[in-house]
Amino acid sequence: MALLILLVLYMIYESYIKKRREKESTYVTREALICLNCRYVIEKDFEPGDFIGLIKDTCPRCGGKMKIKGIYGVEVRI
Ligand SMILES: [Zn+2]
Repeated sequence: MALLILLVLYMIYESYIKKRREKESTYVTREALICLNCRYVIEKDFEPGDFIGLIKDTCPRCGGKMKIKGIYGVEVRI
């Protein structure tokens, strides 16, 4: 009987650890934009529909057009 209780406790403990692990590391998609005018690069969160080569947003430094030069996943630990 004691063994059964121990087994149940172990299973609860393990599922708890698993849940924590899933929460601790998650992936976010980021994109890098480069200014076509002054080559200034900014990084921001990926928005659905964006793709590499898309002209998007204006440069915060010179007001020129910015192009997406890369999209990538980044692991984030909470
Ligand atoms: Zn610029």
